[in-house]
Amino acid sequence: MPELPEVETIKKDLKEKVEGKKVEKVVIANDKCIKMPTPREFMLGIEGRFFQQIKRRGKYLIFELDSGDNLVIHLKLTGRLIYSLKEKKLDYSKIIFIFCDSTQLTFTDIRGFGNAWLLYDKEFQKISSLNNLGPEPLEEEFTVDKFKELLKGKKSDIKSLLMNQKFIAGIGNVYSQESLFLSGIHPKRKALSLRDEEVSKLYNNLRSILSEAISYRGASVDTYVDLQGEKGKYKPHLKVYGREGKNCLKCGTTIQKINIKGRGTYFCPYCQSNE
Ligand SMILES: [Zn+2]
Repeated sequence: MPELPEVETIKKDLKEKVEGKKVEKVVIANDKCIKMPTPREFMLGIEGRFFQQIKRRGKYLIFELDSGDNLVIHLKLTGRLIYSLKEKKLDYSKIIFIFCDSTQLTFTDIRGFGNAWLLYDKEFQKISSLNNLGPEPLEEEFTVDKFKELLKGKKSDIKSLLMNQKFIAGIGNVYSQESLFLSGIHPKRKALSLRDEEVSKLYNNLRSILSEAISYRGASVDTYVDLQGEKGKYKPHLKVYGREGKNCLKCGTTIQKINIKGRGTYFCPYCQSNE
């Protein structure tokens, strides 16, 4: 699933390619992904409108229209947004936004878990998972003290907590593991067991990894591609994710894989402290 660095890369591309463009036509090839309002209302609410400003919140993309309404898209597992010349046919197309200048933006999704909403008058509370997102880890207001405050008394394992969107927005299975590896923290550690210096390390690593991954345009560990259909370049720089049976890059111990709440989790049994 695309995480913060991948969705941020797509947002930056969208800002460059489609921000300010007028949507001439909306073609709905498969309406299952449209959660709100009806497909017809969705189409009528976007046709003739400009994509005024494009933002990211967690793993959500938000397109502000000049009408004051907002188009919201979540790519979930395999959703993609592809920018191309008009009339290019793409596999698994769900929605095609055709612009006035002979280009288009296509929302495709092989597995079909991705969603789109058109919200009237900034009614973000209608998407509760968007409305209840935790802080953005790369924003200035997200300080180490704020992180410490959030972690206080949390009994959950630290990895699941990092992936909980209500706790912090945008982090998933890949970047939670990478930040814990670099910080020398076992993914199953209870959050409340982390010492002060471990929390500071985790905070710094989390932010630096996310920024670094953005600079490489994200990691294509699954089906993620950018707006041009190109893979992200961060995957070869991942230090623990997907490295089961290989040597730890820090100490040479064999990387192990365990299951935490249904998600494959890689770690070094020597470097990542259990207590
Ligand atoms: Zn190690």
